[in-house]
Order: sequence, then structure tokens, then C-alpha cells
Amino acid sequence: MDRPPAPPGGRRADLHAHTHFSDGALSPEALVALALERELAALAITDHDTVEALGPAREAARDAIELVPGIELSSALGGLELHLLGYFLDPAYEPLRERLVRFRAERMGRAMAIVERLRELGAPVDPDEVVAAAGPGVIGRPHLADALLKAGHAETLDDAFRRYLGRHGQAFIPRPAFHPEEAIALIHSAGGVSVLAHPGALVPDGVIEELAAEGLRGVEVWHPQHNATAVRRFRALAAKRGLIETGGSDFHAPGRSTNLGDVSVPASVLVRLKEAAGVPE
Ligand code: AMP
Ligand code: ZN
Ligand code: FE
Ligand code: FE
Repeated sequence: MDRPPAPPGGRRADLHAHTHFSDGALSPEALVALALERELAALAITDHDTVEALGPAREAARDAIELVPGIELSSALGGLELHLLGYFLDPAYEPLRERLVRFRAERMGRAMAIVERLRELGAPVDPDEVVAAAGPGVIGRPHLADALLKAGHAETLDDAFRRYLGRHGQAFIPRPAFHPEEAIALIHSAGGVSVLAHPGALVPDGVIEELAAEGLRGVEVWHPQHNATAVRRFRALAAKRGLIETGGSDFHAPGRSTNLGDVSVPASVLVRLKEAAGVPE
């Protein structure tokens, strides 16, 4: 992968990481401890559709590491999945909290509708077990897949997705998602800066430029899924549209995904994000 050049002094920031409040494996405390072990100067926690990790993470981080409050909102445009990162938003902002509670309720409703379909299909699972499996996290298909395995209705996770939960499965229901414009507006109203996460190969330039016209402030250039060609493409687009270039490891779990800090950006990126958010240095 093409990495941003290391600045003198080498203060590095990983701006994309998940905790067990979404689909990560680690608690906020354990993630902060890992960030210190990895000698990061700054860490952004960007859980999917929740800010619950940010309070405990701030307590754990204290002055030892700069903790950047973040989120990764699930959004969709037609068939295109667009994840929007928000940095330096105020996790206590009431309209944000309310919208996230409603979003989680929509996800719960979808999970229970899938449970109902599975019952009709002769593959019943215990809804309480599905909810318990999600723990503090946002409920989703992986938890339904686990329940199908436990109940003996599927041989493997793959089998559960192929037969029931995947796009072509018999119990498939699309996930709720924000409209990208709503996600960008929500992030900004909460005092944050919006950044398009890992556009990868699927998102056309035109869509990114449209989002920029709607107020998008940045694009995630450095990400485990971006090869050198992708990095060049997004850098050119960022230069053309005045977007802030960010990056991170999209860390989920030790051993499972790219390790925390293995994709990082110079701390100078934080300066630009703070300027854009109006946060004092
Ligand atoms: P959801 O957000 O509830 O739609 O669930 C999406 C998650 O399901 C993804 O992040 C993956 O972890 C998991 N997933 C999707 N498709 C598959 C698959 N074919 N096999 C295993 N896991 C999958
Ligand atoms: Zn995730
Ligand atoms: Fe994502
Ligand atoms: Fe992510």
C-alpha cells in the first residue's frame, strides 16, 4: 500500500477504528491501551452508527493520547453503500443522539423482521439470543448468523448467509441507512467534519464530487482496501475539490483485520480537521 510520507518527528494518527459498541472486538479501554502500545499520537474512534464508546474512551485516554471523537454513519445512495465518517462531533448533541437511537430502533425492527421470516421458513431462532449476541453493539446479520448456527439451521457462517441472510438469501432484508445528504448534515450540525470513508473501486468520481458540492469536507485516502492506484485517484480528487485527505486502519479486532496503526496519517491531518470543525488547537 502507498503510505503518506512520515513527517519529521513522526507523530502519527490512526483515524479509523471500531470498538465492541459496533462490530469491533475490543472495549474502548482496550482499544486506547492498544493505541498507546502502538505508539500512536492520536486515535479516532469511529464506531458504526453509535457514539457510546467515546465517553469511556476519553476517560481511558486522559492525557496519554489524543482521542478524536468520531463516528461512521451507514449511508446508501441507490445500490451504492457510502460510509460517512464524522470527526470532532459533539457526542452529547441531543439531535444526534435522538437520530442514532431511532436508527438503532430501525435496525432492531429489521432484525426482528428477519427472525419472523426465519420462523416462517422453518428455521426459528430465539430473538432474545440474537439480542444478547449483539451485546452493547448495533444489532445486525452477524448476530442472526450466530443464532442460526447455534440452532443447527446452518452448517457454517457462509452457509447461513448463502441460504438465509445474504443478498440472495430467503430471509434477506436490506439494512436501514442514512441518505448521504442527511448523514453529512447530521455530522455538521453536531459540530463535526464529514469525510467519505473508503470509497474504494465502487464509488465513481462523480458521486464524490456531488457529495463535495453538498458539503462533504474530506475523503479517506489511506485505507487497507486502497491500493496505490486508488490512493493516487483519491489524492487527485481531493486536490481538485479541496477535500481533506484522511486515513486509518479500519481496525476491528486483533488478528482479524489490519492492525491498529498499520495505516495512519501525519498528525498534521488533525490540524486541518480541527480547522474545519472550528475546534481550538
Ligand atoms: P448488516 O449490517 O446487519 O447488514 O450486516 C453486515 C455484516 O454482515 C457485514 O459487516 C459482515 O460482517 C457480515 N456479512 C455480510 N455478508 C456476509 C457473508 N456472506 N458471510 C459472512 N459475513 C457476512
Ligand atoms: Zn465495521
Ligand atoms: Fe466502513
Ligand atoms: Fe469502519
